[in-house]
Amino acid sequence: MADDALTRAAALARAFLAGAANRPVGIPVDRNALRTSLGGPLPEQGEEPASVVERLAQAADPGIVGTAGPRYFGFVVGGALPAAIGADWLTSAWDQNAGLYVLAPAATVVEEVVGGWILDLLGVPSSASVGFVTGGQMANTTCLTVARHAVLERVGWDVEARGLQGAPEVTVIVGDEAHNSIFTALRMLGLGSETALRVPVDGQGRMRPEELERVLGGVEGPTIVCAQAGNVNTGACDPLAEIAAAIGSPDVWLHVDGAFGMWAAASPTLAHLVSGRELADSWSVDAHKWLNVPHDTGFAICADRSAHRRSLGTVAPYLQQAAGGDHDPFELVPEWSRRARGFPAYAALRSLGRSGVTDLVERCCALASSMARQLAAEDGVEILNEVSLNQVLVRFGDDDERTRAVVRGVQEDGTAWLGGTVWQGRAAMRISVSSHATTEDDARLTVAAILAAWRSISAPVRT
Ligand SMILES: *Cc1c(COP(=O)(O)O)cnc(C)c1O
Repeated sequence: MADDALTRAAALARAFLAGAANRPVGIPVDRNALRTSLGGPLPEQGEEPASVVERLAQAADPGIVGTAGPRYFGFVVGGALPAAIGADWLTSAWDQNAGLYVLAPAATVVEEVVGGWILDLLGVPSSASVGFVTGGQMANTTCLTVARHAVLERVGWDVEARGLQGAPEVTVIVGDEAHNSIFTALRMLGLGSETALRVPVDGQGRMRPEELERVLGGVEGPTIVCAQAGNVNTGACDPLAEIAAAIGSPDVWLHVDGAFGMWAAASPTLAHLVSGRELADSWSVDAHKWLNVPHDTGFAICADRSAHRRSLGTVAPYLQQAAGGDHDPFELVPEWSRRARGFPAYAALRSLGRSGVTDLVERCCALASSMARQLAAEDGVEILNEVSLNQVLVRFGDDDERTRAVVRGVQEDGTAWLGGTVWQGRAAMRISVSSHATTEDDARLTVAAILAAWRSISAPVRT
């Protein structure tokens, strides 16, 4: 019986993936229609597993967004590599609890191995520790938890024991373009999202090091600086080497939110964008974005392994904890029981190899540049950012309303999906190229769909 459910699930998943390139990418779906097809009261009697799977797939289908296909350019989402999906299926079947070595020896060791590969690929010190979390938000929260611990420990305050009640004030400094998840992390950590000092940025959203130096000049005591690699709109990376030089003190904690931008490090031709990254104290990196691992996986990386464990690890007599130089995975993350998310990341990395990771990153960036070039050739179309990475910002007719109308037009057409944003006061279309599945043809088709939407609203009105 269980076997039927799995056989059916595999067949449905295969059929879905085989058709992913051809289904409309972002289908306008009626929320109430989904509520009707998926909802109703909980059935009194249970149903056959295979039929549950079958009916779920059928009812969910109209509400499944084509992020697995090659023409999804919204947010920064990434696709999912076949080996990673396969390993993800096994992860569910194995149902390991990756919190403790004794519960999940293979998962624990796979996380160690993946951690080592990631540090090597990203060019950060090999002695760093890697916590496996759900994504960038929890990576930022985890890294900043360790940062809070370390800067307070340096002034003799035990934040784990005493919390922030009566603690020395911690100054947090962020770039004016910091990702929202940094502020959510600051909220959760009791550091406050509005008390952070904001450093002005340049036209690409990069923190200005001379401005950071000015802000630091007025600050003393425990201090955390949050830099960014990969602005969610422009893709720009803060000048990390100059930021580290402006800080110039080992007492200030430098965190890098590099959810997708840190992957530039995997390419010899793009790594200069994140040079100086090795000087930071912690890094947040997503695997479900650019590494194309299925959701959800991110890495919370800290240079000081021992601070990482002191901040988050606990001891309980029933746990049978790892001894010696070894640690249990739960000591590096906020969760106890959790999914063995190292397996899909392991499979993604092995299936790509080092050269494949480099190629994935470089190919996405080349496609972003190529789309920007094709779009810029059209009258009335302007590219708002320097396309240094995988992000493109496009504006139409130098007009907010018309730009939004083109975004809507493309979404309704269904050839591709991309979203809108506001960049430094002006509405823009946002294109993020982050899937292994996207080809030159997909880029061309998408540019054609964008230009068709633009021409349909920019054509002179006939009288
Ligand atoms: C996506 C993103 C995040 C949040 O990551 P999630 O995986 O969605 O939690 C944080 N920072 C930056 C710069 C991002 O692009």
